[in-house]
Amino acid sequence: MPMHPMPEDWLQPQWSVPDSVLALVSTRTGGGSKPPFEQFNLGLHVGDDPATVLANRQRLSDSLPAHMHLQWLEQVHGTAVVEAQADAVTRRGDAVYVDQPGLAGIVMTADCLPAFFASKSGKRVALAHAGWRGLADGVLEQTLARFPDAPADVLVFLGPAIGPCHFEVGAEVRQAFVESATTAALAKDIQDQGFRPSAESGKYLADLYLIATLKLRALGVEQISGGTLCTYCERERFFSYRRDGQTGRFVSLIGILP
Ligand SMILES: [Zn+2]
Repeated sequence: MPMHPMPEDWLQPQWSVPDSVLALVSTRTGGGSKPPFEQFNLGLHVGDDPATVLANRQRLSDSLPAHMHLQWLEQVHGTAVVEAQADAVTRRGDAVYVDQPGLAGIVMTADCLPAFFASKSGKRVALAHAGWRGLADGVLEQTLARFPDAPADVLVFLGPAIGPCHFEVGAEVRQAFVESATTAALAKDIQDQGFRPSAESGKYLADLYLIATLKLRALGVEQISGGTLCTYCERERFFSYRRDGQTGRFVSLIGILP
């Protein structure tokens, strides 16, 4: 049993994976950080008091089943996939792959898209941090490529990101996605469905969830869920960099129970 129960508003993905898979998303609830990081900030790189952040991280560990080792990442908006290790070393990368019981990988976000992956067997899982740059450059593709499973045997859950109601971008972002698409059909779908003109001339509202879904479907992933929340809209529950500038980070976590 965990030492502390998880706060009730933490999210557990609803998807059809075996019970051996541990997956959750933290919220602002449960920690000791002061404004503008209140309350449960888990990012050490955002200007919050380090001792408070470390206490929050300990609280996260205490909320998990015993004997789970956590792999933290130093995220750089790239596409490198790190293999989770039990040595407590923070590794540089934007996705983490886990195939050992007792290990979990973590990504921190405050608007970027956390994408959960799990094999149908539950023996292999992964988590990717996909901001627009990483999403365009292929972090989902790189993560899926780590699985020996056929893409149809990998399930994906899209965690809380900034929604198409609030993610305004310039034309150069749309262009980057169109240019990075691997086929003309995918480029057209992303251009037509992933963006709509915003009220401000020359700008677009981007739909990270839909773009991720189009990319994953093009790779052969069939079971994709989640993708309904907006971090910017849900002020009480999630940090949003676009909304607040200096703010905290919540975590997505996936692992295999010991
Ligand atoms: Zn919104």
